[in-house]
Amino acid sequence: MKNYIIHDPWHIIEDRFRAEHNEFSESIFSIGNGRMGQRANFEETYSGKTMQGSYLAGVYYPDKTRVGWWKNGYPEYFAKVINAVHWIGLDIQIDGTTLDLEQCEIINFERRLDMKAGMLHRRFKIKIPNGKEVEVTAKRMYHLFQSDTASLQYTLRVLNADADVSIRSYLNGDVVNRDSNYDERFWVPIAEDIQDDLVLVTETKKTQFRVEARLRNVFYVGGAAQPSGTKRKEQCYVSEELHTHLKAGESVRMEKYVAMVSSLNHPLAKLTEAAQSSLEKITSKSYSELIQLQTEAWARIWEESDIQIEGDVAAQQAIRFNIFQLNQTYTGEDARLNIGPKGFTGEKYGGVTYWDTEAYCLPFYLATQEPRVARNLLLYRYQHLQKAIENAGKLGFSDGAALYPMVTINGEECHNEWEITFEEIHRNGAIAFAIYNYVRYTDDSEYLATHGLEVLIGISRFWAQRVNWSEQKQQYVMLGVTGPNEYENNVNNNWYTNTIAVWCLRYTLKVIVQEQAQREDRLYDLLSRLDFKAEESAKWQHIVDNMYLPEDSDRGVFLQQDGFLDKELIPVADLPIEARPLNQHWSWDRILRSCYIKQADVLQGIYFFEDEFDEDTIRRNYDFYEPLTVHESSLSPCVHAIIAAKLGKEEKAYEFYLRTARLDLDDYNNDTEDGLHITSMAGTWLAIVEGFAGMRVRDGKLHFQTFIPKKWQSYAFHVQYRGTKLYINVSQDDFEVKNLSDTEISIIFNGEQLLIEPEWKS
Ligand code: BGC
Repeated sequence: MKNYIIHDPWHIIEDRFRAEHNEFSESIFSIGNGRMGQRANFEETYSGKTMQGSYLAGVYYPDKTRVGWWKNGYPEYFAKVINAVHWIGLDIQIDGTTLDLEQCEIINFERRLDMKAGMLHRRFKIKIPNGKEVEVTAKRMYHLFQSDTASLQYTLRVLNADADVSIRSYLNGDVVNRDSNYDERFWVPIAEDIQDDLVLVTETKKTQFRVEARLRNVFYVGGAAQPSGTKRKEQCYVSEELHTHLKAGESVRMEKYVAMVSSLNHPLAKLTEAAQSSLEKITSKSYSELIQLQTEAWARIWEESDIQIEGDVAAQQAIRFNIFQLNQTYTGEDARLNIGPKGFTGEKYGGVTYWDTEAYCLPFYLATQEPRVARNLLLYRYQHLQKAIENAGKLGFSDGAALYPMVTINGEECHNEWEITFEEIHRNGAIAFAIYNYVRYTDDSEYLATHGLEVLIGISRFWAQRVNWSEQKQQYVMLGVTGPNEYENNVNNNWYTNTIAVWCLRYTLKVIVQEQAQREDRLYDLLSRLDFKAEESAKWQHIVDNMYLPEDSDRGVFLQQDGFLDKELIPVADLPIEARPLNQHWSWDRILRSCYIKQADVLQGIYFFEDEFDEDTIRRNYDFYEPLTVHESSLSPCVHAIIAAKLGKEEKAYEFYLRTARLDLDDYNNDTEDGLHITSMAGTWLAIVEGFAGMRVRDGKLHFQTFIPKKWQSYAFHVQYRGTKLYINVSQDDFEVKNLSDTEISIIFNGEQLLIEPEWKS
């Protein structure tokens, strides 16, 4: 764990330089705008510990698979959203010495992320080896209002003596990925141009995404704009350099404006025009006007998605950090994009899509943005349906059965560990559940007719082929799977997987019946196009009625899988602290044989299907499984926070909230340097809205069942629901609900039905 981020409601602050933790801070201070983003690398040269990372959404490279022992069915490649052109770079020389924090005496240093304005600030004072003192202030933003552009402002002042200063501002396309499987370079240079703006064109190998980066520099000395500097180009590199002599106390300031466009979004022939036009748009404004636009754009986001917590700065900062990062990662404008578990903040997980999106992120976007945004997340999977059918085909399934990949960017499977790729099939269930969740929340049942049902049928066909009839049990079973708890592999009858499979079949059958009543012609067309046969429904119903779901009647709990009770059940609390996290201290073999649970598994099912269980059942399962859970996936604490809150276990709910909310800020899992846990950040929002405020949708109505942690004076948030917008404020002894839209809404609040008139009427 680390504990050096200063607590503040709107800022993330690091108040001195810790070279040994620089990669951690580079993750924490990452910024982005949904279209692109970056780790908080320094502008100037840095020879210390750093991981360079600058990413463009959707621009990926299929890195050839590297595994020890090839298994039939493995994918050929792992798609990676790769490190792209390094646009922030400044090579600064002071009296001929390179400015490099690793080589200087640092007098003071501060990094600050202003979440209200969407800006990264840094300032430091240093003494360079010749004894001269220099002060730098830098700010940087990825514009929300023009998402293919970014800018920075960098001011350097010499303090105690005159100095010769040169600043070379550059674009460097010769970048690498640390996790490249074969130390390959992923980009080829296409063109460099320095006649007017600095232009660098590069292209990814194999996928041929062409990217044009166009940079305009503006230099000021003592406040006066300078003529262009000396421009230079080399292969994959363009630069402009200014030399100046500063008197003690004088400063040089520079602004870098960049547009980065790619063939993902523009026809090749129009790339240059697109880059020019975007760059013109931002350079026609002053830097302070850009800051103003950025602040206004972020204000609109905060208006919809902020959560205010009074009385607990650590919790307040954390929830804002999580909401900030989610909005930096995905804006929902493009159904080809999705939410990588690390967003634009690191290489791990390759920036590609996991079940995390459907299981954890969707509710956040449903409640804080227009339905279009969540719908685009569903469309992403709809567009990949044929690939999911092909993917299932490769594993031996047929007749339209669809298995969505564990990891993907374009619909093809990228994951390459058999126990996950072939066995962690519960992901199919989460994709179906997201369709249900979206329709339940928005009432957009039309989506089922146009897209949803087709996906549900593909998924149901998969489950119907994946189960088998056990003569011995006289029930259906599902063998050889991995549940959400990846600390068990190749188990039989994982309760969660069997449960969600049965639920999918039941839900698909229900939707077919509904569609028959509402849009019979359209349904008929769909079923004939899919060659759907009546026997399929009959088989599905038979599975629904006869699926084996392991449970232990003595304990009154569902069994995570067959044989779970044969394990030695020693609570996590009895494990020596040095053994944690288990995945860094124990052999895989020892983990697999143990009873320890990586993340919610049975409890994930209880969370999804809560209304199917009475409270005693939920409590027994929680009390049995939680003490065996090590929460070594960032996705784990939030589900536990929600269930603990429901069960009135307030302290536990609060403890899990803090753990999920400050997971990265305090580096609970000691892995934030790899990048932030973006998808689990949505879980933090869930922990407050579904956990503490108990928000649910039942029978077309919003329900709230609130509690407030002892330490908090109040918490407040907005949710959008079916065209209305509510403001909920819960304090220690009161609550307030405001309807900020034009139509009344009836909700169930702490068990009472309330009709909430629009605010302007009251
Ligand atoms: C978790 C998975 C998750 C993945 C990406 C793993 O550690 O066990 O459930 O999908 O991380 O976040």
